[in-house]
Amino acid sequence: MMYNKEFFKNFIVRLIPMFEEHRDYLSKLDSDIGDGDHGINMSIGFREVQKQLDKLYEETEDISSFYRKVGMIILGKVGGAAGPLYGSLFMKAGDDVKGKNELTFEELVGFIENGIKSIEMRGKAVVGDKTMVDALRPAIDQMKEELGSGKGDLEIFESFVNELKEGSDKTIPLVAKKGRAMRLGERAIGFRDPGSFSSYLIYKEMLDEMKSL
Ligand code: ADP
Ligand code: MG
Ligand code: MG
Repeated sequence: MMYNKEFFKNFIVRLIPMFEEHRDYLSKLDSDIGDGDHGINMSIGFREVQKQLDKLYEETEDISSFYRKVGMIILGKVGGAAGPLYGSLFMKAGDDVKGKNELTFEELVGFIENGIKSIEMRGKAVVGDKTMVDALRPAIDQMKEELGSGKGDLEIFESFVNELKEGSDKTIPLVAKKGRAMRLGERAIGFRDPGSFSSYLIYKEMLDEMKSL
């Protein structure tokens, strides 16, 4: 399977209603251990992406520069901690595939990992800190291992998404070492990290787009 620029656009088109649908739930998670705005932040950002998406798609020549521009909107519009982190997830994803208009599955996995690496570099969180990295890092590591296993793209990506959900579940019993929830100390125990759940939701939409091909 090859993944073309239109695939990457359609994935983003899916994120817009997804963040509307989950806005209140993500903000509720954030109100348990943060300031209650994570869902609002994401929905504001993706509403702006929606406004500009067709223009950005037309005016960019490859997947890399298209996502760089999408990431810049997210960076500019989504406030808080998640804005710069998710902004860089999109901005940096295409660094190794400049000039390309379609990616192999292996390149797609590298694309996703580049984005995750830039979140790690910016936020300096590691697995166990009760952030989105708890979902993203173990899931991408597992997906890289599965490359070349002979399994199909869809099967591999399905387990990636399952791992994201499991990584998010694992944030529940943790004390936070990064982000706002850090200030709560042990009072954060028993609550899910909101960013880990939005990360899961994002790639669930990519899975659904893959299924529709
Ligand atoms: P804010 O906390 O500024 O209100 P959001 O509520 O939009 O921003 O996002 C909070 C989420 O950001 C957290 O649930 C966590 O997953 C993520 N986060 C916060 N700090 C970091 C960090 N240093 N590294 C990775 N993720 C982080
Ligand atoms: Mg918040
Ligand atoms: Mg905030």
